[in-house]
Amino acid sequence: MKAGEYKSTCSYCGVGCGIIVSKMPDGKVTVRGDREHPVNQGKLCSKGLNLHYVVNNQDDRLLVPQMRLGKGHPLKTVEWPEAIARVATVFSSLIQKFGPDSVAFYVSGQCLTEEYYVASKLAKGFWGTNNIDTNSRLCMSSAVVGYKMQLGEDAVPASYEDIDLADCFFITGANPAWCHPILFRRIEARKNANPDVKIVVADPRRTQSCELADLHLQLKPGTDVYLNNAIARVLLENGYADWDFIRHHTNGIEEMQAEVMATSVEEAAEICGLEADDIRLAAKYIGEAKGFISMWAMGLNQSVIGVKKNLSLINLSLITGKIGKPGNGPFSLTGQPNAMGGREVGGMCNLLPAHRNLDNEKHRREVAEFWNVAEVPAKPGYSATEMIDALESGQLKAVWVICTNPMVSLPNSHKVERALKNAKFVVVQDISKNSDTVPFADVVFPAAGWLEKEGTMTNSERRITYLSQVVKAPGEALPDFEIMCRVARKMGYSGFNFKNAQEVFDEYKQLTLGTNISIGELSYNHLREKGSVQWPFRNGRSTARLFEDKKFYTPTQKANLFAVEPTNDSEKPSDDYPFILTTGRIRDQWHTMTRTGKVKRLQQHIDKPFLEIHPTDAEKLGIENDDVVTIKNRMGEVNAAAKVSETVRPGVVFLPMHWGKVLAGNHARTNNLTFDRVDPKSKEPDFKYSTVQIEKYAKP
Ligand code: SF4
Repeated sequence: MKAGEYKSTCSYCGVGCGIIVSKMPDGKVTVRGDREHPVNQGKLCSKGLNLHYVVNNQDDRLLVPQMRLGKGHPLKTVEWPEAIARVATVFSSLIQKFGPDSVAFYVSGQCLTEEYYVASKLAKGFWGTNNIDTNSRLCMSSAVVGYKMQLGEDAVPASYEDIDLADCFFITGANPAWCHPILFRRIEARKNANPDVKIVVADPRRTQSCELADLHLQLKPGTDVYLNNAIARVLLENGYADWDFIRHHTNGIEEMQAEVMATSVEEAAEICGLEADDIRLAAKYIGEAKGFISMWAMGLNQSVIGVKKNLSLINLSLITGKIGKPGNGPFSLTGQPNAMGGREVGGMCNLLPAHRNLDNEKHRREVAEFWNVAEVPAKPGYSATEMIDALESGQLKAVWVICTNPMVSLPNSHKVERALKNAKFVVVQDISKNSDTVPFADVVFPAAGWLEKEGTMTNSERRITYLSQVVKAPGEALPDFEIMCRVARKMGYSGFNFKNAQEVFDEYKQLTLGTNISIGELSYNHLREKGSVQWPFRNGRSTARLFEDKKFYTPTQKANLFAVEPTNDSEKPSDDYPFILTTGRIRDQWHTMTRTGKVKRLQQHIDKPFLEIHPTDAEKLGIENDDVVTIKNRMGEVNAAAKVSETVRPGVVFLPMHWGKVLAGNHARTNNLTFDRVDPKSKEPDFKYSTVQIEKYAKP
């Protein structure tokens, strides 16, 4: 690298592409893909290529701490000590008066690992509550539960290098061509190099990813378990199962086999809206492949049966023994850049650092001793949607929101609005004033953004990368960990005298010693000089693939197969609300657009919200392309331009999830319509299945 160049990692999706940042004499930066980085070998997608615009354009930044004198008063600029003291005083008095469970953190998969760790330590060790949850709850929590139940640990078994060795990809509930583009290019390269490689995509929409597929299974929303069970049945019936692996390395085959045999392939096909022969063909591709990778994202996870979908999918890798070998494995695609790092340090309401479990007394004691506190409470905290319920009911009094925009991203937006209005005290810590959540804040903390602070992140393949500080944060903005440490010290807690992020990392890594995710030997220097590593990192060695010894992290060291009942509790369409609404991302925008929404080039792809609707449905409703339509249900309304298209099935409509009130008005917010029902185990919301009515927009 030349002078003035720094290594970093893209701060958008969980692929985790390496970036070289060049700093110009005027302080501005440019970016290019890092050719030496094993993830992307120099490539970047449209979002990554335009990252410098976000750093160079400071118009939208929060620059100074602000505070209201009381509810209804305007935000006014204050000095840091005053803002810190106010938050420390209010949180202390609420904890004293109403107990520790009256306060909460709501954080983000875009926080760095060190920031997550400090938040986790402050809440669980010092406030005395497990009320810390994250927008990763909306993203990967169903996959996490699936991995833990089946493999004994929240551990993605495979690596991106396995993509180069696989012969069959089953991409289900994901559109990597748009949402994980650099990873998709790797799949594309594999297919181009070997046309015998088979790609099966299961998705109710015909997305860009389907263009590469040998087979698109355009199933009805919510029927994934029927599909996965039917594939399992064909695999078992047609000699594709690895019985030696099943007998020696799994539990539960009898129950699982009985369940999948209870429904014929024809019955499953009918329920899924597919051809039975297509299900058989998908199973044949999977069964015949030497290397089989299943890939999934929000289409499976964001569901009231998200865990069941995960279990039925991972069953396919287990009954074929296609796990822990080159070119094989179940592979969840993380939505955010550091959702995995957040889980590593216990930044969720049911987790403890280094993948310890909250319901394990020994684990709680280990962490409490390490933090030098009396105890870590056993009671799980509020998950993301439970926090909103508790704020609305008044049980939860205060929430400190870091690096996320729940007013746009959480389901049932009108309820979120009521909850934030009802809260006694809201702290918003962010980089952007262009967030729908800032107006609800009693105190606003300006935070340093990407390239303005150092730290680490972990991508979808367990790869930990170091991010350099390249530029100074604008105005008075501070790194997130520093803001939390200042409040912690003001509250009188010891253990928050970290001078820099490296000291936080060095403390956290001690907690990983002896665990399955050990990185005890890892240092910032190693990451800076030798590059990224995949955990566990022991004896100087990174781990590309887990379970090569066929020993799983369960008490029996065997993986667990599950009999997964295909029932689905999502609300069914009715005469009043006959359409199923599914939501998702578009190619060039990220989450609630607080960063990508500022980049003109990224607006050129799609510049306004739209509703995808099938031509048959559009015709029945007298709707033409570009007509403005109103989509409504019991919870709210959204207006959007109709995009009449066969990409969706009849009876199914699609809205992108990005636009909020600040950018496009109150009636553009997709989550006005999404139900806040959650999976009972993972607590992940049902974003992919709400029922709605559609009509032509009529001016009020
Ligand atoms: Fe960034 Fe993801 Fe694009 Fe890579 S694929 S450049 S990590 S958004």
